Amino acid sequence: MKTIDQNIFKSYDIRGIVDTQLNTSIVFEIARAIGTETQLRQRKNIIVARDARLSSPELAKAAIEGLRSTGCDVTDIGEVPTPVLYFATNTLGIDSGIMITGSHNPANYNGIKMVLAGETLANQKIQALYTRIQNQDFLNGAGSYCEKPILDAYLNHIVEHIHLPRRLKVVIDCGNGVASVIAPQLFKALGCDVIELFCECDGRFPNHHPDPSVPKNLETLIETVLKNKADVGFAFDGDGDRLGVVTNQGEIIWPDRLMMLFAKDVLSRHPNAPIVYDVKCSKHLITWIKQHGGQATMAQTGHSLIKARMREIESPLAGEMSGHIFFQDRWFGSDDGVYSAARLLEILAQSSKSLSTICQALPNSTNTPEIKIAIPEEQKFSFIETFKRETTFFDAELITIDGLRVEYPNGWGLIRASNTTSHLILRFEADTVSALEKIQSIFKEQILKVNDQLSIPF
Ligand SMILES: [Zn+2]
Repeated sequence: MKTIDQNIFKSYDIRGIVDTQLNTSIVFEIARAIGTETQLRQRKNIIVARDARLSSPELAKAAIEGLRSTGCDVTDIGEVPTPVLYFATNTLGIDSGIMITGSHNPANYNGIKMVLAGETLANQKIQALYTRIQNQDFLNGAGSYCEKPILDAYLNHIVEHIHLPRRLKVVIDCGNGVASVIAPQLFKALGCDVIELFCECDGRFPNHHPDPSVPKNLETLIETVLKNKADVGFAFDGDGDRLGVVTNQGEIIWPDRLMMLFAKDVLSRHPNAPIVYDVKCSKHLITWIKQHGGQATMAQTGHSLIKARMREIESPLAGEMSGHIFFQDRWFGSDDGVYSAARLLEILAQSSKSLSTICQALPNSTNTPEIKIAIPEEQKFSFIETFKRETTFFDAELITIDGLRVEYPNGWGLIRASNTTSHLILRFEADTVSALEKIQSIFKEQILKVNDQLSIPF
């Protein structure tokens, strides 16, 4: 029996601290499980990609050996953003692939995102890998290995399909993450004037953490956009599947407002289509989708879960508050920060207005960003279960798709357990500041009733 920490098998992917939870021999075992599962799905070929973390090359090598030991033939596409792996699984005739990536986690983390026979693995299917390792239930074989560069094909595909009718000045901040290998070239190829910030891969992330959902990480981008009078600023997360956007005026456009722009565009070609968004998004997005003739569909947070839902209901567009945007319209239904940025440029270039002016026309409200409350890992899910069971909210509609979203006529609050970190995640939105504060105080009281040890920042 191998000792592998079961906690690294998360809801949407595998993630852990390098050396203690994740090392080459553990990744080798996981890859044996993945290789076996791949063949049980009647597939023999699998693509392997990796991000730019310091530990990624050796972990990718271990994964390749593990996959080949089961008899899988491996195609190595090298150091690329996670979305480029998804692109490869949709265009190379090989619909299985794994990505060695720690996404936006701290530099000492790494992990694996998995697509098997076209399906992004989640929940029980990830847990099944753990069980398979415990049982050492692996196929044996001797698979082949080849390398296949893919970035040119990815760039050409986007440049062929996206045309910008006017020249835009764009600042891009890759945060030294792996989007650096393609984003500058792509936006130049689209005809933009590109100003680069931290577009050299560096797994230590020496400038700022590559997580555009945290406003602090966007400070240099905002400054640079304003100083250069750029049309827009983009920030990508560590593995390039999430997008952050700053307008020409330096305002951050949170993904639920970005989704309004994308939804309007997509619904103009797909009337009546379902548009998917996660439980953290603004209620204005819901109203907006309906006003533009779409079906507003709320879903659980989590890129794997959103992709599955999109496919199930044939939705052309989905988005998460965290910055994962998924196009199935003219794209493959996968989340891609770089491609989403190109789609925003298309909308912007087709308009004579500035992004700031375009966004000012969108409905807005008083809201908070994501609020994180630290909680021991083993308590986070049980806290939410107790919270759902034991709290009472008067005159509110309760939505239990993911955690608890409490909707009042003048606003809402959400509490859920993060699947990726040891936190409870909260968000609030209301028509007025006083309504927002009222909802927050109701939540605070109820949270402390369940656990008075938690430190609540509101
Ligand atoms: Zn990511």
